[in-house]
Amino acid sequence: MFRLHDVSYAYGGNRAGVAALSHISLDVAQGEFRWLLGPSGAGKSSLLSILSLEVQASAGMVEILGVPVMQARRSNLARLRRRIGTVWQDFRLLPDLSVFDNVALPLRLQHRAEDEIAHEVHAIMKWVGLENRLDARPLQLSGGEQQRVAIARAVIYRPALLLADEPTNALDERQAGRLMAMFHRLAELGTTIVVATHNDAIVEKYPAPAIELAHGHLVRDYR
Ligand code: ADP
Ligand code: ADP
Repeated sequence: MFRLHDVSYAYGGNRAGVAALSHISLDVAQGEFRWLLGPSGAGKSSLLSILSLEVQASAGMVEILGVPVMQARRSNLARLRRRIGTVWQDFRLLPDLSVFDNVALPLRLQHRAEDEIAHEVHAIMKWVGLENRLDARPLQLSGGEQQRVAIARAVIYRPALLLADEPTNALDERQAGRLMAMFHRLAELGTTIVVATHNDAIVEKYPAPAIELAHGHLVRDYR
């Protein structure tokens, strides 16, 4: 599904920059759920940025869904990006669009028919319990509600790879449980999922193989 070989990443360029990731090698199969663990500053967000094609590794080999990312053409990367769903810690919702239009965005980019889009958006928003907030703007919602909108937007087009940075930090325990159930089901359906967190309680409650980073190094990778 995705493979990293000897990947390093430095902010601000390879030599002068701050090393955020050093010599990471990883191999994650389709349909796996992995926790991404490590204290603040360990490199979790940097790793998610590489996997989401936000940034390019400074060195090493990155292969996602069979595509060698470092050598891929722009058009191939654009196609690959559409198979990757992301839930960012700061949600990254578009403030000027309604909740409906935020969640519909990935489907509109796929040029899906509007009636089909409306159907899908209503279904997913019902699932996250926000079907009555479709006309609101993101900033009119609570943090937990915004997080659920971000999750809905990330999963609505059934991405092959789902990346989430602290997706439960604004959710209460019940909502977090529902989200974990959703992740579990998506993984069963073949989505590979990587969830970064430093919430030990949730990791204990929902045990799964982990990728653990410390100071940019891989310190644990078990199945
Ligand atoms: P985590 O997500 O585990 O908290 P990050 O990937 O955000 O870790 O950070 C890894 C390292 O990269 C840290 O040393 C951090 O200070 C540094 N870093 C993160 N973002 C930037 C940035 N935009 N510019 C420079 N250094 C950064
Ligand atoms: P039931 O108790 O019948 O199983 P649900 O657990 O499906 O009902 O949903 C009950 C309420 O929880 C919904 O009406 C909605 O407001 C809220 N809810 C549903 N899905 C989510 C979710 N993913 N995250 C947070 N709240 C949700």
